[in-house]
Amino acid sequence: MPTETKHAKTQRSDTQHAKTTLSDAEFIRYSRSVMLADDGDKRQLRLKNARVLLLGLGGLGCPVATTLVGAGIGQLTLVDGDKVELSNLPRQSLYQTTDIGKPKAEVAAVRLRLHNPHPRLTALACRPDDQQLRQAIAACDVLVDCSDNLPTRLQLNRLAREAGKPLFAGAVSGNSAQLYLLSPATACYQCLVDPDWQALQNCRTLGVDPALVALTAQQLALLLLRFLQAEPVPYADVAQHDTGLPFGHYARYQQWGQGQNTVSGFHWYALQTNPLCDCCAHTTAANHFTATGV
Ligand SMILES: [Zn+2]
Repeated sequence: MPTETKHAKTQRSDTQHAKTTLSDAEFIRYSRSVMLADDGDKRQLRLKNARVLLLGLGGLGCPVATTLVGAGIGQLTLVDGDKVELSNLPRQSLYQTTDIGKPKAEVAAVRLRLHNPHPRLTALACRPDDQQLRQAIAACDVLVDCSDNLPTRLQLNRLAREAGKPLFAGAVSGNSAQLYLLSPATACYQCLVDPDWQALQNCRTLGVDPALVALTAQQLALLLLRFLQAEPVPYADVAQHDTGLPFGHYARYQQWGQGQNTVSGFHWYALQTNPLCDCCAHTTAANHFTATGV
C-alpha cells in the first residue's frame, strides 16, 4: 500500500476559496453546456473553480486555451516565452498578422479576455526557470503541456511530479500526434523518451499539419474538460479513480484502411514506468508514491 503523504491528501481545488454560485450572466453564457447533464450546474461550478496552467501557446495551446476559456474555466495561467512569427499564423488562431513580434502570452491573454471576461487570466511571457515555474504550478490544480521542445517538456514533467499534480500533454510534429495523461501514481513523460533521439524532432525540423494540430488540441481539451468537471478526487488517486480517463496511458493518432474504409483516431496504450528513469526515482522516493498505473 502506498504511504499517504501531504500530496496524497491534497484535493484538486482550494475549497477555502471555492466559488459556490454561477451568476445569471454565466448561467446564460454556459446554458448549452449546463443542459448536457442533470447535474450540469454542478459541473459548470467545478469548472469555475478549476485552476489550470497551460505551457506553450502555439498550434496546440491556442485552441486548447480558447476552448477552456470559452467553456468557463475559473483561472488559466498562460506561459510562453516566444514572440509571434509569420510561420505561426497558419495554426495559431489567437494571433493576427499585426501581432508579429509581440509576446504570445500577452497577445493570447488580451484575445481570450475579449472572448470571455469571466475567467481569471495570468500571462507569463518568459521561459520560466524552475523557481518561476514552481510558483506558477503551486497556484494551479492541473498542468497542460502544449510546448514544442523536449527540454521544456522534461522541465514541466519533473516539476509536475515534484508538485504531485496531474499533467496532460499533447505533441504534434510531421504527420504524427500524441497525447499523454500522467499523474503522480503513473509513469512519467521522461520514462518514455530518449533525450538524444528526440532532441531534433519537432515541427521546426519536420513540418506540421495544421488540421492534425487542431484535431489533437480539441481531443486534449475534451479530456481536460471531462477531468475538470468530474467529482474531485485527491491528486494521487486519479489514476485509480473511476474518472473514465486513461491516466497512465498515451495515445497515438492512427489511420487504418483505404478509401471509404479509412478509419482514423487516437489509439491508447498503457505506459510502463522505466526503472532507470531519474525523474521517477527522485519524485517517487520523495512522495512515497507507488507507481501502479491503471
Ligand atoms: Zn519516469
